[in-house]
Amino acid sequence: MIILDGKKTSHDIKEEIAVEVNSIVSSGGKTPHLSAILVGSDGASETYVNAKVKACAKVGFQSTLIRLSEDVSEEDLLAEVKKINDNSDIDGLIVQLPLPKHINEMKVTEAIDPKKDVDGFHPSNIGRMALNLPTYLPATPAGILELLKRYDVETSGKHCVVIGRSHIVGSPMSILMSRNNIPGNCTVTLTHSRTQNLKGITKTADILIVALGKAEFVTSDMIKEGVCIIDVGITRVRSDKNKSGWKLLGDVNFEDVKEKCSFITPVPGGVGPMTIAMLLQNTLISTKK
Ligand code: NAD
Repeated sequence: MIILDGKKTSHDIKEEIAVEVNSIVSSGGKTPHLSAILVGSDGASETYVNAKVKACAKVGFQSTLIRLSEDVSEEDLLAEVKKINDNSDIDGLIVQLPLPKHINEMKVTEAIDPKKDVDGFHPSNIGRMALNLPTYLPATPAGILELLKRYDVETSGKHCVVIGRSHIVGSPMSILMSRNNIPGNCTVTLTHSRTQNLKGITKTADILIVALGKAEFVTSDMIKEGVCIIDVGITRVRSDKNKSGWKLLGDVNFEDVKEKCSFITPVPGGVGPMTIAMLLQNTLISTKK
């Protein structure tokens, strides 16, 4: 069994990006600039945004974090998005999700200039992704592709089963794995909460991508020998063993399945760190354009 080490791979990618930024800037080019909007003070969102800002500094990007209060109106948030769209110094814009209930997330996503949509969530970028045209790929699915590529996991002709059909992970993942690309060229089955006989389907997977948000849901009786497992899930649970009092669990019962896998991503240290690396990569692409 080979661990798909997202921590190490994301570190390598960040080093590659830092080298490129250094060479762009030292030859008189523009420093990449990522702007993030955070609405409210949700603990998890705060952690994610701070990690993104820290990662920017590490690779030599400029970053701007705009904090808006929980009760900001949709109109004011849209005005903030427009301001950033019109600011030619800013190459990428992310609005940290989820947003408070009174704000229409899709309206905000659609307001972001597709050229600055480094999260790859804008409908026009999702459409370009589906058509296999150059675009910003959503960061988590892009991170998964990058891991498969860097570890030479064969995907062509394989049966890929995706659990979960969210707009940010499961659904784009199913499209990407079926595209005529490397990695790609899989026969894909996208499963979700209404799927019947899930175990019967997952047992036929050569590659199993799990993104449903239920801790340790996938167990060894659900998989076949030699499967490659990508565990996207992140659930925070109380733990006396860790100093922080918390630990992170994936959607896969790692200890139970590991002996049956050819490859597997751990949680933490698998898909999570790759997501930020891909966000930085998308921002660099935007700057170069
Ligand atoms: P979501 O929470 O929006 O949706 C869950 C999906 O799982 C739905 O499509 C639902 O139909 C499906 N589902 C629920 N129960 C099911 C069942 N019993 N059988 C089959 N399908 C079922 O999904 P999300 O936003 O993609 O998040 C999924 C998990 O991935 C969460 O734990 C989240 O924290 C994590 N996540 C991690 C990263 C990362 O960078 N590692 C990024 C995004 C999300």
